[in-house]
Amino acid sequence: MEEKAKVYAISEKGLLQTKELYQYILDTSVFSRELQPLKELREVCAIHPRAWMSTAPDAGQFMAILLQLLNAKRTIEIGVFTGYSLLLTALNIPEDGKIVAIDVDRAAYEMGLPVIKKAGVEHKIDFIESEALQALDEIVQNPDAEGSFDFAFVDADKVNFWNYHERLMKLVKVGGVAIYDNTLWRGTVAMPEDAVRQKLKEGRKLTIEFNNLLAKDARVQICHASIGDGMTICRRIS
Ligand code: SAH
Ligand code: CA
Repeated sequence: MEEKAKVYAISEKGLLQTKELYQYILDTSVFSRELQPLKELREVCAIHPRAWMSTAPDAGQFMAILLQLLNAKRTIEIGVFTGYSLLLTALNIPEDGKIVAIDVDRAAYEMGLPVIKKAGVEHKIDFIESEALQALDEIVQNPDAEGSFDFAFVDADKVNFWNYHERLMKLVKVGGVAIYDNTLWRGTVAMPEDAVRQKLKEGRKLTIEFNNLLAKDARVQICHASIGDGMTICRRIS
């Protein structure tokens, strides 16, 4: 029971127990620093019926600092949507950096594209309209692709997260980073199943399974951060 006692001691100092605290972070440290093109993309794409799927600006801020610390030059993004995390990545890699960006939904990508063009970073993006698994399997076949990526952001269908991870463990170099998004699934991972809304049940189950697999994966160092809807940062160590 020592374990439990420890957990309680930690969670008392836990973060973000109120909406006000989240708002405080946004107002104090995020909105004042968010780059103009990112603000613009958020505004332009706010009319999309699923605009809530976009990466939140505080999570973006976290990704930006990681990209800079890693000196990331070649990155891969699985799940582009209207392009918030994509534009953020493009703005945080060098002029000759490249992003392989995969999504089945070209229309969503094209909604944010004018802002990406205006920001002068479209040349860094190689957009692939495809099922992500199919695209990854093609990339993996090219021997030059092995270990060639510094960074990956995975934000597409949760049912394939482990499949994506297996491919990325070939494509991301040792020392590189892969981030998996939504790994707390609106907090449902820690709720009993019957307390969870029907709509969230499947994602909860898949996320729990994925988190358990990652926790046991010796190929990566991990950090399960409570940013956004939960982000697991994996640094490839072997
Ligand atoms: N990173 C984005 C949000 C991604 S939302 C942002 O910051 O705005 C999830 C995206 O994953 C959607 O655009 C959806 O079309 C895409 N997606 C879902 N399943 C997919 C699959 N099997 N292959 C490729 N893309 C997929
Ligand atoms: Ca997401």
